[in-house]
Amino acid sequence: MISKQISTFLMQNKRHFLIPASQVATVQVDNSLTHAFMVLSKLGYSRIPVVRDDAKFAGELSMPMITEQMLKLDEIDTSCLDQMTVADVMDETVNTVNNPYDLEEIMHLLVDDNFLPVVSEAQDFVGIITRREMMKSLNFLAHNFDKSQLLLDNEK
Ligand code: AMP
Repeated sequence: MISKQISTFLMQNKRHFLIPASQVATVQVDNSLTHAFMVLSKLGYSRIPVVRDDAKFAGELSMPMITEQMLKLDEIDTSCLDQMTVADVMDETVNTVNNPYDLEEIMHLLVDDNFLPVVSEAQDFVGIITRREMMKSLNFLAHNFDKSQLLLDNEK
């Protein structure tokens, strides 16, 4: 379990944890792989969330999931990308979280995942939590925990 003092300190920065859905680049399940390939190439992200028409979270799409389809035995064939959709290759078995402030769960999952989609109980896509934002908070903690302890001690 995370120490109460550390969790209280980190929660001071909680407004930065969640990147809201409106600021997250996504593709839709029925987008063609050609479209998805262009989106990922332009953005420079190797993996992004996939949503349904009704804004429900569906999974994640990565560049290798697309390039895998293009790679033939001794050539690259992009023609199949027009015929296939994101739904054909996306990963639906990804970790998600309901509560963007459950530090215990988030820190545990961010060890393996670059980002975590946040979804509501009804599967609505709420946003993402990235490893970068969590690392920034931990960096701030590492540099300032002593000062906050001094303040707490002086208040006793
Ligand atoms: P970061 O920790 O900022 O490097 O982000 C980790 C991963 O989260 C990135 O590699 C992307 O896959 C994803 N990501 C971060 N920000 C966004 C965004 N605004 N839209 C879509 N995906 C993002």
